[in-house]
Amino acid sequence: MTTFAQPRPWTGPHVAGELPGPLSAELLARQDRRESSARTYPRHLPIALAEGRGSFVKDVDGNVFIDFLMGAGVLSLGHNHPELVAAVHRQLDLLTHGLDFPTPVKDEFTAAQLAMLPGDLGRRMKAHFCGPTGANAVEAAIKLCKTATGRGEVVSFRGGFHGSTHAAMALSGLVAAKEPVRNTMPGVHFFPYCSPSRCPDGPVPGSCAWDCAGQLERALTDELGGIARPAAVLLELVQGEGGVVPARPEFVRRLRALTRALDVPLVVDEVQTGGGRTGTWFAFEQYGIEPDVVVASKALGGLGLPVALILYDARLDTWAPGAHIGTFRGNQLAFAAGTEAVRVVRRDGVLENVRRRGRQIDGLLAPLAGLPWVREVRGRGLMWGVELADAGGRPAGERAAEVQARALRGGLIVERGGRDDRVVRLLPPLNVTADVVEDACALLLRAVTECGPDRFVPPVSGRYRPGT
Ligand code: PMP
Repeated sequence: MTTFAQPRPWTGPHVAGELPGPLSAELLARQDRRESSARTYPRHLPIALAEGRGSFVKDVDGNVFIDFLMGAGVLSLGHNHPELVAAVHRQLDLLTHGLDFPTPVKDEFTAAQLAMLPGDLGRRMKAHFCGPTGANAVEAAIKLCKTATGRGEVVSFRGGFHGSTHAAMALSGLVAAKEPVRNTMPGVHFFPYCSPSRCPDGPVPGSCAWDCAGQLERALTDELGGIARPAAVLLELVQGEGGVVPARPEFVRRLRALTRALDVPLVVDEVQTGGGRTGTWFAFEQYGIEPDVVVASKALGGLGLPVALILYDARLDTWAPGAHIGTFRGNQLAFAAGTEAVRVVRRDGVLENVRRRGRQIDGLLAPLAGLPWVREVRGRGLMWGVELADAGGRPAGERAAEVQARALRGGLIVERGGRDDRVVRLLPPLNVTADVVEDACALLLRAVTECGPDRFVPPVSGRYRPGT
């Protein structure tokens, strides 16, 4: 049996020797023999995890890392937040699993979630608890919209990610995952996603030169456009896995107006952006729109305990009993942690911290924007990406992998995403301190800076063209 190394202090990142360390290497090798080849994170981040505390995680060799992966955005208040842990302990003695029966803790959780909605949405929306994954909630949202409208087509956007189940995968942009799996959900139509980081400004300030919203509008209103009126338009407001790509506000507002005019439910997938990640509880609040359906999961359980739900306009509630069931819809521990998380977020001004730390990251990473092998640094709240550029004959994705590896060796865990995995992504805990942000950004600056100059040759055109 593996024996874990003695604990080291948690004052900051500390990496001794090569990675993986010997104990991590042993667990990774065993995992390689026993587990499927579909596993992902340990391929790029070759460590075995032992223990987490706040913004830090320790591997089994005793190396301490700043963790800006945070369980892919799940651990909104960091690892093992003591008050959330205490709430879970209290609940553990009472009840752990409740199917979809009402329970006091579920009642509190539901009230807390509805109360976080802006305006009177909390009174107009209903909640449905899904199987405890983002993908399951996406499936539920689409099923709901199909049932309510009696229609079958769905509009989704290039670059989006909505999960790995059949329908969620069909709705996602990632082509490589679909190719080996035939016959995913039919009737999905992809349209271009409008973001300032993807296309130039249009003639009107805030508008897009490619008129993405107009393309959708023309397709849906043209009697020869080929697409029957859809059951839903599904959208991420900031594409997370797609490489931290925020939608242009004007685009979102036009989508809202169009879907309203055509009586098509607008579904926002806030699985990654929800729970405060972008500086408001949900990202749609910053776009000045009211969606018909909100899909949420990841951060809602606070500690990484599984929970997923859709919040939707009550007029869509046409479902028959049992229309979307699942055994694991009633994780009482997740409800306890999630309720406590909302209390802590409100009490500690966590959303304000997200905005402040976001501005801090913006300032600290600004020097990267001047490097020829960095295409863009962008983010919202505490969701940041450094997009690398093809430069010096070297593909951006390869360089991003090296940045990730160097950051890890320095003591910082970051994720990658986007086309060719060329965006280095940061998902800090929402209550991260200024000191940790400073340390993490210093490590990232070093990693990115070290990954360029030796092999850099200025590109011929002098201007990087995104391969979207
Ligand atoms: N939607 C979005 C926007 C996501 O980022 C993810 C996961 N990264 C999902 C859906 C799928 O969530 P899950 O992995 O829990 O199924």
